[in-house]
Amino acid sequence: MKVIVVGSSHGGYEAVREVLADQPDTEIQWYEKGDFLSFLSCGMQLYLEGVVKDVNNVAYATPAGMRAQGVNVYTREEVSAVDPAQHQVHILNHNDGTERDEHYDKLVLSPGAVPFALPVPGKDLDNIYAMRGRDWAVQLKAKTVDPDLKNVVVIGSGYIGIEAAEVFAKAGKKVTIIDMLPRLLSLYLDTEFTDVLTDEMKAKGIYPATGQAIKSFTGENGKVTAVVTDQATYPADLVVEAAGIRPNTAWLKDTVDLDEKGLIKVDQYQQTSQADIYAVGDATLVPFAPTAGSARIALATNARRQGRIAGKNLLGTPQAMPAVSGSSALSVFDYHFASTGIKEGTAGAYGVTTKSVLVTDTFRPAFVPETAGNTKVWFKLTYDPATQRILGAQIMSKADVTANINTISLAIQAGLKLADLAYTDFFFQPGFDRPWNIMNVAAQAALRQEA
Ligand code: FAD
Repeated sequence: MKVIVVGSSHGGYEAVREVLADQPDTEIQWYEKGDFLSFLSCGMQLYLEGVVKDVNNVAYATPAGMRAQGVNVYTREEVSAVDPAQHQVHILNHNDGTERDEHYDKLVLSPGAVPFALPVPGKDLDNIYAMRGRDWAVQLKAKTVDPDLKNVVVIGSGYIGIEAAEVFAKAGKKVTIIDMLPRLLSLYLDTEFTDVLTDEMKAKGIYPATGQAIKSFTGENGKVTAVVTDQATYPADLVVEAAGIRPNTAWLKDTVDLDEKGLIKVDQYQQTSQADIYAVGDATLVPFAPTAGSARIALATNARRQGRIAGKNLLGTPQAMPAVSGSSALSVFDYHFASTGIKEGTAGAYGVTTKSVLVTDTFRPAFVPETAGNTKVWFKLTYDPATQRILGAQIMSKADVTANINTISLAIQAGLKLADLAYTDFFFQPGFDRPWNIMNVAAQAALRQEA
């Protein structure tokens, strides 16, 4: 059997790995239109802050390593069209300008997404960057050490925008972060958390310009000099656009069914509308456990699960994609937070009624001094008041307590209720925790609230 995989990021990588692991004698062709295999955008901040020195290390596969395992790896080769009837893809080889067709028995598409470029006047000025992929990583890195660069404006306050803002604040630049929504990180955390993080960012030199819409970019000599919103003008030597992504699927519109946003429609087996063609990653929706519907959650974790599932199904082992909760974590200077599922702030968008409890406490017993690392924890549990089913949670602290959110993700996936979590057995040792884990405490408080 011959399997062709398009795209070398998380989704494509896992599809290749699954086929290799389960049927190593399969002929695999793996295509990447860029010149670098499997760049890990998730590791970009570590590279930009100098923790990882070599940009080429921000990857998890090399062409040589994959070829040694028998995979035919093609970089700078773009799959430009698919002919499902003939089971053929058309390939543009950017190395030598040649073109050719290749037959496939099974095809996996993981074309991902591209950063959204705001269609406003001035959009073509120089020094308007994005934060995704190796090429932008290299260009952004150069800007972090450019002494002439004083003012950076980041557009969008999701986790990518926050990472960019922190990078440039740590590099000593004056940073403004603009978002249309009224709060930073508002799709990830509720107000009790973002209030604290916004103060932290302000203290570290990041100005939050929220509730503002971008009107234009202005410039001199072809270079951006300011960002104009409906409320103010912000000086900018560099703009980093992190205002969302668009699926990289225009080339597939006559091949597989796309939805109104251009996302590839897939069933629970990652199968597209065409036989023998599977799709995974940021160009697709994922099944969403809290609502039992689907949602757009562009995370490497989701792309990886989908890649594995597509690999299993194309090899003839039917396996449905498990529902996910959209769990993610991030550090904002000294704070670490994680969240999963539905928050008060996103419940309306999902059309669900929720109630929540917020618990604040120290993460270890009160007798443990702050000098020994004891510090405050914020934990918020969100549930369905009609059924008491757990729908989401958020946690934040200067201690790294983020892994608790993985437990809540499992609770959501398993359909657990407040009563299940209230007395669950979690370990206690004063070096790590309190006699009652904060998840127990929150579930008990929620049960009292409902009594
Ligand atoms: P993409 O990563 O978008 O890659 C698609 C690849 O396919 C590209 O290399 C592209 O060149 C190639 N391609 C596209 N079309 C073709 C074609 N026709 N022919 C050949 N090649 C093609 N997620 C997390 O879970 N945790 C994190 O900490 C995290 N941090 C992130 C930080 C940043 C700065 C960014 C930008 C993203 C982060 N993500 C994180 C999200 C994660 O990177 C994405 O969800 C993931 O990369 C999606 O993988 P994908 O396979 O769908 O596609």
